[in-house]
Amino acid sequence: MQERKLTHLTAAGRFDICSPGECIRFLSAAPCITYNPRVAGGCGRMLKVLLHGTCSYDCAYCSIRLQRERMSFSPEELAGTFLNLWREGLVGGLFLSSGIPKDVDLVMHDIIETGEILRRRGYDGYMHLKILPGATRADIHDAARVANRISINIETTSSDHLGSIAGVKDYRQDILKRQAWVAEEKPGNHITQVVVGAAGETDADLLTCVADQYRRVRPFRIHFAAFRALPGTPLESHPDTPSWRRRRWYQADYLLRDYGISADELQAALDEEGFFGNRDPKEVLAASTGPVNVNLASRHDLLRVPGIGPKGADRILAMRRERPLAGIGDLRRAGIRGKTAGQHVAFGGPDTVQTRLFP
Ligand code: SF4
Repeated sequence: MQERKLTHLTAAGRFDICSPGECIRFLSAAPCITYNPRVAGGCGRMLKVLLHGTCSYDCAYCSIRLQRERMSFSPEELAGTFLNLWREGLVGGLFLSSGIPKDVDLVMHDIIETGEILRRRGYDGYMHLKILPGATRADIHDAARVANRISINIETTSSDHLGSIAGVKDYRQDILKRQAWVAEEKPGNHITQVVVGAAGETDADLLTCVADQYRRVRPFRIHFAAFRALPGTPLESHPDTPSWRRRRWYQADYLLRDYGISADELQAALDEEGFFGNRDPKEVLAASTGPVNVNLASRHDLLRVPGIGPKGADRILAMRRERPLAGIGDLRRAGIRGKTAGQHVAFGGPDTVQTRLFP
């Protein structure tokens, strides 16, 4: 029975994104996969599992709300199951979420109690606990105390959009207010997730929302899940979000987080209807401006060149302190993909004619 529960409740837990990028500091670069008894060894490094496999909420995109078979772990059961797997070396971390079949407070207490049992019994590894919408301030504090990371999913961009896909949850009260508490408890060490395309939001809507997230609560990372229509849900005939839209969102997110490009600047990469289209937003921005002179440009401007990232920009700045960069070979020596960047750069100093490669 325990094996069946584990298989069922890890499969149901797969919709929360828990990528190597999220937990790499705590575990390894191994992908986080759910429990699968057919895989040799049984598990991936992260056990991603639900405490309760049913939910009384009405989120139109979610398969858990359709589950009729009541399947749950008690905190004691899940902690014991996890510890057995951990001691056998089959798992290295826990990512614990839950459906809400009953009162939110009772489920939050179960989640926290699972974490506390594990800590009392000597588990000192990575633990990520999901905060449920509407959780109390005290429970968020307790979850933060026991876990390495806590998180709450914002799911979409606004009250109106959430209202169209999840009528029970109040965006401002149940989610944003709780997320602000999460950020206070784990500054810079919380994440969130958006289901791209579920509520018919535009990329312009998402851009406003994501910029607001980084300004207000500063999550370590925002995950973007592409909406997939699940049979039997109210959104089963809603079109799937193409995977390239999700990819464009990870690219746009990097530009906002790591490249110092503002949301206002990124607006220029949107089309008239407020969507990115299937092209790297950085390419779109670069195509609308002239070539960047690698010998004169600031770090800020170098980062706008497709193919040049933060490390590449720093290497260019270091190299040109010795001598001006003369051409594509120097870009390659800086570890930059010359063919990509070459279309958007020029060389030469103030006294020489600029040369653009690959016009
Ligand atoms: S709260 Fe919504 S998204 Fe979460 S398990 Fe329940 S129905 Fe699914």
